[in-house]
Amino acid sequence: MIPGDPVMLTTEFWNQVSRGKLVRPVCKSCKASFFSPQILCPWCQSSNWDFQESSGKGSIYSYTVVHRPPDDEHPSPYIIIDVELEESWRMYSRLIECNPSEVQIGQAVRVSFQEFKGRILPFFKVAEDQLCI
Ligand SMILES: [Zn+2]
Repeated sequence: MIPGDPVMLTTEFWNQVSRGKLVRPVCKSCKASFFSPQILCPWCQSSNWDFQESSGKGSIYSYTVVHRPPDDEHPSPYIIIDVELEESWRMYSRLIECNPSEVQIGQAVRVSFQEFKGRILPFFKVAEDQLCI
């Protein structure tokens, strides 16, 4: 890794996403998971970390509904979620196949890899045992 090069910091994340795996940085010093990938662990400032696979299971920490999409390829409206994964790290993503009036904080979600604009992205769906739509 070249310090300060943001492409190198996220390359492994995107390579794994293209293979259908969700990964996050895990610090080898303090064992904390964090996101997004960065040079130093935000908890102990160690540079000794590597990517580990996530279960892709989590819950909605927060969300917002976007009513004015940036282009015609986005549905309108669509849901942006701040998802808390079960390994105690959070990321932003899109919640798909859910009516915006049905989304709730704390709802269980699962990662769902979808092609969007020619690229595989880690979106999320509401877990099967939770009501949505
Ligand atoms: Zn650490």
